[in-house]
Amino acid sequence: MHQIIIFGPPGVGKGTQAALIAEKLNLKHFSTGDILRKAVQDQTELGTKAKEIMDKGELVPDDIMIGIVRDALAGVREGNGFILDGFPRTLKQAQSLDEIFDELNFKDVKILYLTADDNEIVSRLLKRGRSDDTEETILYRLKVYNDATSPVIEHYKDKRPIVNMNGVGEVDEINSKVIEAIGS
Ligand code: AMP
Repeated sequence: MHQIIIFGPPGVGKGTQAALIAEKLNLKHFSTGDILRKAVQDQTELGTKAKEIMDKGELVPDDIMIGIVRDALAGVREGNGFILDGFPRTLKQAQSLDEIFDELNFKDVKILYLTADDNEIVSRLLKRGRSDDTEETILYRLKVYNDATSPVIEHYKDKRPIVNMNGVGEVDEINSKVIEAIGS
């Protein structure tokens, strides 16, 4: 069973690659950003709370996110596995995720780490044009990534296998390399 976390800065192509990997390997794709955007669209209590936070480029509180991911992963009992996209984004989330993996007996979790330099990321996000993709919010999201999220990769070093991949280039080419690296 594939147990994959796709990790990297905003705009590196995590969502695109995660969707392709999920399709090719028949995995469940859990994107915490997509889950939150759906809640905003459906105007649920979570959505109302999350919208303001997301528009500013800030992080939704850990407890809320951990609950969402715990529920999602608990639903993966059979099948080819999962790819987790957009989570964990803080050390607290990473520590809780370790506990969730232990509880659910997921023992073969791999990290797929996509990288790109900041200039590339800003220009990609400006082109994407999502409602939270204004220049100001993009720069803030990068700061949040550098301050709160990038230490998560240190947490995984020496603990879980990490596949490093440059996220700049042709989507299909990167995807072929990724699939080869994680095995099918
Ligand atoms: P994304 O689609 O991954 O770029 O996420 C969009 C926004 O959703 C982020 O800027 C955060 O406001 C929020 N978000 C998504 N995932 C998380 C998470 N794991 N922890 C906190 N906030 C999150």
